[in-house]
Amino acid sequence: MILITGGAGYIGSHCAIEFLNNDYELVIFDNLENGHIETIRALEKIGKIHFIKGDLRNIEDIDSVFKKFDIDSVLHFAGFIQVEESVGNPSKYYKNNILGSLNLFDSMIRHNVKNIVFSSTCAIYGEPKYTPLDEKHPKNPINAYGRTKLMIEEILEDYDKAYSLKSIKLRYFNVTGADSQSRIGEWHDPETHLIPNILKSVFEEEKTFKIYGNDYDTFDGTCIRDYVNVEDMARAHKLAYLYLKENQKSDEFNIGTQKGYSVSEVFQTAKSVTQKEIPVLIEKRRSGDAAILFADASKAKKLLNWQPLKTLEDSIKTAYLWEKTRH
Ligand code: UDP
Repeated sequence: MILITGGAGYIGSHCAIEFLNNDYELVIFDNLENGHIETIRALEKIGKIHFIKGDLRNIEDIDSVFKKFDIDSVLHFAGFIQVEESVGNPSKYYKNNILGSLNLFDSMIRHNVKNIVFSSTCAIYGEPKYTPLDEKHPKNPINAYGRTKLMIEEILEDYDKAYSLKSIKLRYFNVTGADSQSRIGEWHDPETHLIPNILKSVFEEEKTFKIYGNDYDTFDGTCIRDYVNVEDMARAHKLAYLYLKENQKSDEFNIGTQKGYSVSEVFQTAKSVTQKEIPVLIEKRRSGDAAILFADASKAKKLLNWQPLKTLEDSIKTAYLWEKTRH
């Protein structure tokens, strides 16, 4: 059985579907602080899952999962993810992301579970020295969120040397879109991400979409990001898991499309997908935003045989359908 921590959250739940579609039985562990019980109910209709409500900060919670179920590998998504919040409240991030991960890894070692796929982020690279970003780019995160993810990667390296815990770290670029059947989708409270925020302005009259800065050094002045579809991301996890099982070797991979879109381009695409006039304002820059981030994902293509199949338009379409189910 595979254990998914944070499986009631956005990316974890879409990955769960990918594994359920391939007939895996899953244990999902989530404290439901940011995940949703409705997501668990949707997953229960798709395949065989065992849901355990628990918190990684309590070692007994996670230990009891390994005692109860025959787990052979872990996909570790659980963690706080908001960059701005991490700057104002680093204590929350270090306690949850670092301590929670340490408890998980220690419990794995105690129960002789030695394979883990870890959700990392391109935020570990910090301000780009060059683009596209490859895995060898210097790592210099500029916020507490990115630092927690980098520290966890480093902990995993030490745990491999000392305890033979084998890990694949997937460094996500901007994950977007929803399940193609609209059973689950992106659902954060508060929502800070670009595409759901644009779409919220379609449904919620009082919401004007804000572009954070149009004075960046890019072709149209707005930030450029690499938007990777969540179902493509889920497939990357399955391939990473299979690669780990087969090779028993730790490694890390960027998961992105290798193509950057500006905030204005994303906004225009959303307007054309929804066929709506969306109110928009230019605001000042948001702190901590790099001008340009996009991936060199050739390593994932070469070793995992992964490549994205969906376009930005596909992602916006599924995100829009998902938002419709919620309004
Ligand atoms: N952004 C924006 N308005 C919003 C949300 C985001 O202009 O309501 C911009 C943000 O400044 C960044 C890009 O969209 O340049 C992607 O932001 P998001 O929060 O989706 O992901 P991040 O790149 O921060 O992980």
